[in-house]
Amino acid sequence: MSAPEQPVGLSTFEEVAAVLGAQLPQALRGQALGAIETDTRKLGEQAAPLFVALKGERFDAHDFLAQARANGAVAALVERAVDDPLPQIVVADTRLAFGLLAAARRRAWGRPLIAVTGNSGKTSVKGLVHAILVRDAARFEAESLANHGNLNNDFGLPMTLLRLSNAHQHGVVELGANHLGEIAWTTALARPQVAVITNVTGAHVGEFGGMGQIAQAKGEILAGLSPLGGRRPVAVLNRDDAYFSLWQALAATGQAVDVIDFSVADGVADGVVDGSVDSVDRPARLQARELGADELGRYAFELTFDGRSLGRVQLALLGRHNVANALAAAAACLALGIDSDLVIAGLESAESVPGRLGVVAGINGSRLLDDSYNANPGAMLAALDLLATLPAPRWCLMGAMGELGADAKRLHAEVGDYARKLGIDFIATCGEGAQATAEAFGAGGKHFIERAELEAYARNHLPTGASVLVKGSRSAGMENVVAALKVDA
Ligand code: ATP
Ligand code: UDP
Ligand code: MG
Repeated sequence: MSAPEQPVGLSTFEEVAAVLGAQLPQALRGQALGAIETDTRKLGEQAAPLFVALKGERFDAHDFLAQARANGAVAALVERAVDDPLPQIVVADTRLAFGLLAAARRRAWGRPLIAVTGNSGKTSVKGLVHAILVRDAARFEAESLANHGNLNNDFGLPMTLLRLSNAHQHGVVELGANHLGEIAWTTALARPQVAVITNVTGAHVGEFGGMGQIAQAKGEILAGLSPLGGRRPVAVLNRDDAYFSLWQALAATGQAVDVIDFSVADGVADGVVDGSVDSVDRPARLQARELGADELGRYAFELTFDGRSLGRVQLALLGRHNVANALAAAAACLALGIDSDLVIAGLESAESVPGRLGVVAGINGSRLLDDSYNANPGAMLAALDLLATLPAPRWCLMGAMGELGADAKRLHAEVGDYARKLGIDFIATCGEGAQATAEAFGAGGKHFIERAELEAYARNHLPTGASVLVKGSRSAGMENVVAALKVDA
């Protein structure tokens, strides 16, 4: 099969106007539409592009219409008519309109799409799913769509959906949120047939106002699913999360949805900071049994579905939380009817995304666990669990966790307590709020105001052969600590 590269749907300006309920300027009638682009700097590469003027933190792209015209745009989508000869379609809100255009393309495409939400592990699960889907698509010389990097909000999701073409057999997107209603909107645009909710680990808890609100926000995905062929949509839910029962109840309201639940521990809370596990008498449908890890923290397990073994899986990814991520990915792909051998091969091939628990050689023969991309309470505990399984001496270098609101002190202290109970040898923290972690850890805990001080201390004191976890919120910039401690290969 030779796959057409052209994006699907939205090939005329008439369609654009119809989707947006907007007036079409005379000059655009009968005109073909090529790309849809939001950045004047990328226009040159595209055929017959429509420039969408968005307002960002730094710029208002309504100021760039002359630039857009010079770079080849055939029209602009704007919120107010701009004094420029470029033909303009005017709408009330270009960011919303951008989403609606992407939704129209997604509807025209019509094939299976998996959407992943949750506090932690969205990008990891997306990577695992994509590793499986590309193998499946290759059998048909087709492709599979996945969002680049972390593009998961009301801008990133439309960016991703607008790439859809008939070459894509299926796809996976991650949906992120920092307020209620956000997932409802992006789900309405993506219309996934399969939804995955990974967990609630406390990311953005300050902005949401509580763990329950986060769980509710993630649950919004369950109300926006589309049928999968002639069958019901599928919700993949984490049985080990404190909010499993809430999501299960949400999945049972409204349209009929099939649930595939997964469990690493089959009922024992995993990576959960708050809340309670409701008792459930039936085992999870997808399970990881006979779990074992090597000295690097790479897990292997028996994958079972409805009590039947599908085979043994050896992950390249580190940490028990990646077993949960692998189960979530496997469930979503099995829901699409993908063969279990392909599922296992895909899971085994997936490698870590930079900054998410990659292993880096450090000074003094140390092994650095680079988890510097981000942190929240549950993710921090999951990473400490991994550290605890690695060779001693075990060090944790931790930057403050942001966006935790009123509970910041307690949540930081819980991490210190947890690390001490796990037998971590030394913990050094930096940044506002992280002092509570060092204090709760007790003897062997040190706090530095500046990251540079922590870096200097670690360079001077790191014992030989240590296992070193480096982790903190994005704002903590802990990748600099990794850079300061690593040895070049
Ligand atoms: P973000 O919303 O910040 O983009 P994300 O949901 O996409 O995050 P990932 O990028 O996959 O998540 O992982 C970020 C960090 O979260 C990892 O480095 C790891 O420490 C932690 N993490 C990943 N999966 C899990 C999980 N299932 N349980 C707990 N922590 C996890
Ligand atoms: N933009 C553009 N040309 C430029 C600079 C910005 O088209 O030379 C666009 C950019 O792609 C975005 C909008 O203007 O859609 C707002 O830019 P800003 O950098 O403020 O956006 P942010 O990324 O901060 O949301
Ligand atoms: Mg992400």
